[in-house]
Amino acid sequence: MAGFDAVFVGSGINSLAGAALLAKEGWRVCILERNDWLGGAIKTVDGLTAPGFRHEVFSSWHPLWVGSPAYAELKPDLDRLGLEYLNTDLPTATAYPDGSSVHLSTDGAANVAELGEAWQRQFDEFMAAADVAFGVLGTELWSGQAVSLGRKAYKQFGRRGLVEFAGHSLLSARDWLHDTFPDERVHGLLAPWVLHTGLGPDQAMSGFMTQVIACALQLGGMPVPKGGGASLVDALATIVREAGGELRTEADVERIVVSEAKATGVRLADGETVTATRAVLACVTPTQLYGRLLGDDDAPANVRDRARRFRYGRGEMQIHIAMSERPRWRGDERLARTPLLHLTPGLDGVSRAVNEADRGLLPAESTIALGQPMTVDPSRAPEGSWVIWVQLQELPPRPKGDAAGELDVGDGAWTEELREAYADRIVARIGRHIENLNTSTVARVVMSPADMEAANPNWVGGDIYAGSCSLDQNLLFRPTPATPGHATPVEQLWQIGASTHPGPGLGAGSGYLVAKQLTKPPLVRRMLAKVPGVP
Ligand SMILES: Cc1cc2nc3c(=O)[nH]c(=O)nc-3n(C[C@H](O)[C@H](O)[C@H](O)COP(=O)(O)OP(=O)(O)OC[C@H]3O[C@@H](n4cnc5c(N)ncnc54)[C@H](O)[C@@H]3O)c2cc1C
Repeated sequence: MAGFDAVFVGSGINSLAGAALLAKEGWRVCILERNDWLGGAIKTVDGLTAPGFRHEVFSSWHPLWVGSPAYAELKPDLDRLGLEYLNTDLPTATAYPDGSSVHLSTDGAANVAELGEAWQRQFDEFMAAADVAFGVLGTELWSGQAVSLGRKAYKQFGRRGLVEFAGHSLLSARDWLHDTFPDERVHGLLAPWVLHTGLGPDQAMSGFMTQVIACALQLGGMPVPKGGGASLVDALATIVREAGGELRTEADVERIVVSEAKATGVRLADGETVTATRAVLACVTPTQLYGRLLGDDDAPANVRDRARRFRYGRGEMQIHIAMSERPRWRGDERLARTPLLHLTPGLDGVSRAVNEADRGLLPAESTIALGQPMTVDPSRAPEGSWVIWVQLQELPPRPKGDAAGELDVGDGAWTEELREAYADRIVARIGRHIENLNTSTVARVVMSPADMEAANPNWVGGDIYAGSCSLDQNLLFRPTPATPGHATPVEQLWQIGASTHPGPGLGAGSGYLVAKQLTKPPLVRRMLAKVPGVP
């Protein structure tokens, strides 16, 4: 294989978006992926459960991508290549065990009617500081850019206001929800969303993340790509190929080649070397980067030690169901029109399930994230039928027991028997809400935390967020305090992906930040650009 300007290890969204951005700047890039599909957590499979049913095996919902600067920049090309987003005005809801439910819309007035005046107050409060909040999530935090953001925030809020903002952003979701909404139904609507940020509702900063998501859902709805996430992957791959780049599957990178403290390429497991003259971008965890891809002499001991101590979060289970007819939901008719809803007893139910999982137990009553992609994109299965996507984010990587006292977890291995038995508990609960679930289920496929880890080495222990997102491993400290940000101790080697700032999700934040860093014009040219009259 000829040499490239940049080589990416892994084909996650951060690599794909980063590579497409570099390709647009004239770089010749190469993406090397160990799996037999491109996209990492984006994988669309026809017939996963039964012929004719198309499923998103992992990620499904694209509000982060559609709201990202990478999408904004690549949109003209993605549009040209036929990528189309579909959306809804009813992004989410929570259904309670008694059959009642609470709904969120993209219409602010409807939300005030449903959730009370407190909704508008929190929305206005967040929007007043939204550019700072989104700025923190979209800026390289150890950089001059972050200093400018801090200065701007200081100007906007003053010293006291800034301290107040910082203090407020550390609140747990529990405290923020209690402070903000008198109605417990609203707590149950928003608390499960904390799980989608890799946190639990009693953790520091989960209040801030809940507020970001609450407002983003009203503003952005729940977009999905027509035909599934593979349409996005195909379009990004085409941008790379059009610029002379290459993407290869079944190419496991086993070593980053370092010469005189500079990354000059990678070596594949079959011995082939692919050279990179300007950058190597590794979309991997610190554990893999410093424990496998780099040699002991390539990085200082404290960096390798920190990487070894990088912590992973809870495990995850996916359940995919094909139904021969549309679901008949008990209760509010809007449930059948909502793409991503949660089944939970409420804030305390989420908190209890998180705590049980953290203590190594199978939760008695996991928070069920139930996705209905066909509410937005009817093309996913034959007319009249339905697909359901279920995500459980409160599972122990190796169960020590069952909080319900029903299942024998053996030695803690996720055997097929344990996986299916736990899925049965979840499906039985869903069946209390969807009256025709059992009678019209055609097939189901379940993936345990162990299956998740087998699908992607970044999901250690089934942690789909590639590392705990608790405060000591987040923002300024992600991935580790010894290597915050994306630069590494090796020149020309960058770490990107969910393990790095701004963390997990389809926003492609790290791929974008590094691509921008690599293509930034030299200082002199940037200064001249500010001088009026200089071309
Ligand atoms: C089940 C699930 C559901 C999710 N749902 C959503 C959602 O709906 N919306 C949302 O915004 N986010 C969602 N997320 C989170 C989001 O999808 C991920 O955080 C994001 O896609 C991670 O992207 P990444 O760039 O870090 O790379 P990844 O997706 O982790 O991909 C990395 C790739 O690198 C490859 N790789 C690793 N090591 C090597 C090596 N040595 N050589 C070659 N290849 C290698 C891996 O095989 C993998 O394909 C979900 C995640 C999961 C797992």
